[in-house]
Amino acid sequence: MIRYILFDLDDTLYPTSAGLMHEISARMSEYMIEQVGISPKEVDHVRRDYWARYGTTLRGLYIERHIDAQAFLDYVHDIDLVKYLHPDARLDAMLAALSQQKSIFTNAPADYARRVLRALGVEKYFAEIFDINFIAYESKPTPSAYSKVAAALPVRADECLMIDDTARNLAPAKALGMQTVWLDGNDNPRAAEGSDSADFVIRTIYDVPTVLQ
Ligand SMILES: [Mg+2]
Repeated sequence: MIRYILFDLDDTLYPTSAGLMHEISARMSEYMIEQVGISPKEVDHVRRDYWARYGTTLRGLYIERHIDAQAFLDYVHDIDLVKYLHPDARLDAMLAALSQQKSIFTNAPADYARRVLRALGVEKYFAEIFDINFIAYESKPTPSAYSKVAAALPVRADECLMIDDTARNLAPAKALGMQTVWLDGNDNPRAAEGSDSADFVIRTIYDVPTVLQ
């Protein structure tokens, strides 16, 4: 029986069409050009390479360029969220109706995650935010991040459901015995890589109750 749900944050609790991740992505490239000294011509290639080899841009920058991870995170998340996100009554109602305990598992920092939850009007539903600091910059899909989170949960891994819009983030959760849900919401081929690790596929966050029946 599922007693606990781990939700990814970005592009999961709100749709890609909100545009927020587009601005975050643009700010990552800006930082890499202006602060790290990567040429504008190279930046997309470097990001694709880091994403493939390290899981995230941040982890690649941290390992290969020894950047100040906190300064990078502060810069890319310094965004006026109310331009992109609004209280979501439907999400609120869905979360209220789910009896499971709920937490966030994100590669972003907790203070930003809290701001996102507040902007969506759903902060009160989440017991914990397992953020990039909790997992010591070992971002999803690095398996050690999942072991740390699983060890902190009050339930067994097989009582936990994990939901993420980036399908390759699900395999390490499944390896620990969790059930996995891929939110196939953004038609991005990169997000679909690894979708064979999904026990369930949903098209919007509002479909979560359908996999719990
Ligand atoms: Mg996401």
